[in-house]
Amino acid sequence: MNDILPGEVETWQFLESEAHRIFQLYGFAEVRVPVVEKTELFCRSIGETTDIVEKEMYTFSDRSDNSLTLRPEGTAPVMRAFIEHKLHTLDPVSRLYYMGPMFRYERPQKGRYRQFHQIGVEAIGVDDPMMDAQILAMLDHYFEAVDIRNVELHINSLGCKQCRPRYRETLTGYLESRLRTLCADCQRRYLTNPLRVLDCKVPACQEATVDAPSVLDLLCDDCDTHFRQLQAHLHKLGIVFTINARMVRGLDYYTKTTFEMVTNQLGSQNAVAAGGRYDGLIQDLGGPALPGIGFAMGVERLVLMKGDQRIAPPRPQVFLAALGDAATDEAFALMTRLQRLGLRAEMAFAGKSLKAQMRRAGKLGARFVLILGDEELASGQAQLRDMDDGSQTPIALEGIGQALAARCLAGPATGSR
Ligand code: ATP
Ligand code: MG
Repeated sequence: MNDILPGEVETWQFLESEAHRIFQLYGFAEVRVPVVEKTELFCRSIGETTDIVEKEMYTFSDRSDNSLTLRPEGTAPVMRAFIEHKLHTLDPVSRLYYMGPMFRYERPQKGRYRQFHQIGVEAIGVDDPMMDAQILAMLDHYFEAVDIRNVELHINSLGCKQCRPRYRETLTGYLESRLRTLCADCQRRYLTNPLRVLDCKVPACQEATVDAPSVLDLLCDDCDTHFRQLQAHLHKLGIVFTINARMVRGLDYYTKTTFEMVTNQLGSQNAVAAGGRYDGLIQDLGGPALPGIGFAMGVERLVLMKGDQRIAPPRPQVFLAALGDAATDEAFALMTRLQRLGLRAEMAFAGKSLKAQMRRAGKLGARFVLILGDEELASGQAQLRDMDDGSQTPIALEGIGQALAARCLAGPATGSR
């Protein structure tokens, strides 16, 4: 679990504010749900035989002996809230997004943590593949907006209640003869959840299944048509994708379309965003029979992908350098006024030499330094140094707040150090 400190948090804020901006363009509204839920919610939705439920959940009993779990993902809690508040009665199409911490007891490594953060979206009520395409267009738009280019969209279809059992059977038959080469986990998965074997990160398991039968060859007509229509929409929108029939995803609730945004920049933590359709989930959780589709992005992985293009903290617009008690008092009052006017203003609080104050202004990357001493107070004119070109000009103290605001707000509001 990580602390996110100044210097890094600016990139987080940028990734979050772009999510608010982009998702709202597509009609999505934010929903905030608790970080703890009844354990049963996750067992029923994600699936008893998935890695998350079998070994990754932070589960505990509260003082009334309820079994609670720190949410390992966002879809189940959002669906729980959707059902509880009967959101479908307000609007036949619900478009929701969320952001916040998730918890999984995994082996920590680069891009994989025990408390991590997701930004996710859910669209409920439409089974048309046009909605799948809309979601993928929005995901694509987001990556463009935050300027993360090194990613590829992979799509697949996992079929539905009708055709998936047929695939499961075919895959089980295929795995049978290769059982001895699979890892211990996969030997168990072979019985409980054979599709998971295709998702295993152990190289031997990947090798053993290179020519596994493709789920796409066994889709029913309905799922096949859905998948073809999705591809046609994506072509029309100019969204580039790769079909990856091995992508099975780690959660059981997916049906039909599944997808991932993958990168080769983060080792085996190659998925930066992932999602899919979950047409039976809401009904399984006791809600109305409504289809849904969504995705979640891993914020830590997005931050890692931003790499050196991290967002710099904003620089002060005015640094007030004061000499002498009277000037320092005046500078303090002026700084507070400038802040009220919407400027990032700073000063040194302890009586330092002018040289030390200028050094600090430089270190902070201040755009202007206002120099104020007894002489300036008496003459009613301070000195304004432009730190970008080094020029220094007198500026009247009378009306200085407005004058500085006009100068600072005219230029770029942020800059890098
Ligand atoms: P992976 O295959 O990497 O384990 P996953 O399939 O378990 O990912 P999802 O449950 O689909 O991932 O979660 C969506 C996204 O959340 C992932 O694509 C990833 O970016 C991020 N994510 C998942 N688990 C972690 C984690 N432990 N630490 C950081 N980010 C994570
Ligand atoms: Mg995982």
